[in-house]
Amino acid sequence: MTIVLDGCAVVTMDGDRSEHAVGHVVVEDARIVAVASGRAPRGLDDATYVDGSGCLATPGLVNTHHHLYQWLTRGVAVDHTLFEWLTTLYPVWGCLDEDAVRIGATGALVQLARTGCTTTTDHHYVFPTDGGDLLGAEIEAAREVGLRFLPTRGSMDLGASQGGLPPDHVVEHLDQILTATADAIDRHHDASPDSMLRVGVAPCSPFSVTADLLEQTALLARDKGVRLHTHLAETVDEDDFCREKFGCGPVEYVESLGWLGPDVWLAHGVHLGDSDIATMASSQTCVAHCPSSNARLGAGICRTRDLHAAGVPVGLGVDGAASNEAASLVEELRHSVLFARAVGGPRALTVRDGLELATLGGARVLGWDDQIGSLEPGKLADIALWRIDTAPHAGIPDPVAALVLGTPPPLELLLVQGRAVVRNDAMVDLDEDRLAIDVGAASEALAGKAVGG
Ligand code: ZN
Repeated sequence: MTIVLDGCAVVTMDGDRSEHAVGHVVVEDARIVAVASGRAPRGLDDATYVDGSGCLATPGLVNTHHHLYQWLTRGVAVDHTLFEWLTTLYPVWGCLDEDAVRIGATGALVQLARTGCTTTTDHHYVFPTDGGDLLGAEIEAAREVGLRFLPTRGSMDLGASQGGLPPDHVVEHLDQILTATADAIDRHHDASPDSMLRVGVAPCSPFSVTADLLEQTALLARDKGVRLHTHLAETVDEDDFCREKFGCGPVEYVESLGWLGPDVWLAHGVHLGDSDIATMASSQTCVAHCPSSNARLGAGICRTRDLHAAGVPVGLGVDGAASNEAASLVEELRHSVLFARAVGGPRALTVRDGLELATLGGARVLGWDDQIGSLEPGKLADIALWRIDTAPHAGIPDPVAALVLGTPPPLELLLVQGRAVVRNDAMVDLDEDRLAIDVGAASEALAGKAVGG
């Protein structure tokens, strides 16, 4: 099957950062076969031509941090710090089951698709004893929505009785975690070039897991050849916790446990000193920057410009919807640029730097940049076609500025692996009205279960 996006502006993110004011992209089955300036040749055999005039084609956006299940607990503890917000929500999350996770994940994944995302990770770390196969439930949701997916088998083993933050009933035992994590990788991880599903390993954070768990999971992930993910350096409270308990800052702490390297990506990285940034650059440890969540929880502003300038790989993340009710990836793109400039001046991050973080940067953070993140012949056909000729954007001469600084544009088309997931700003194969009803009911049921239980 051949699809031709014709007559659109094209931002490729290739090695030369080529852009075409009027260009075309040709897709054959799952992959891109041509990207060039000017109109596409007519009469390609059995091709479907998409009129791209008035549109901008970019690589599909890549989301590097999320907690999909939180879609069912949006709008709770809305004026709280991270630690207060977590202690309010842990008991609710302790009631999760397969149905709740499947419906919540579907809601979150649809919102990602509708905001230009073609690949996302997920960090799922709450596994109640009788919850069922929660990782399987979110994998089923990603398959139904049609996004490329990198779920991580998360974990917590440091309950309140041992000095951790989460209550004891939502944490697991170390052996149980290691067995379940190895099993998740063996069952689901597909390392092939066309893969739609890879699995990572993700203990939750320094204040909810033991040093043992961090060390053991790093060994397991490296043995299996998968990536490592955790939260780090998010808030001042976390920094205080680490200094009090371990006698050093969060980066030094995880470094001592084997948790730095090009196969590791850390969510947030807000509170980093100059030496932390140098350590992360030399080890090529990656960062998932989540500007809206950091602002929503008053955590601070990531030093994106300094990380970028030092050569630390940085991608963007919406973070869980309980701390970012919008959960719109294209809005994170705008916020990353605005926040960097708010603290670093007007040249801290250009609009093209921002788009790079959201596409190729994210692909690199997820270790997938050999296959996705740019529009080049040979890469997988993950493409967002944004309509930038309607009233909110018409007249903006630079299409990248229209996308990054303007209101989120409608999506004319979103292709994942060459398959249309969004068309005319609506899901192609999914009833969004039905989904809204299901999400409302599931959110209510989960809140009720938490109060009742
Ligand atoms: Zn998070």
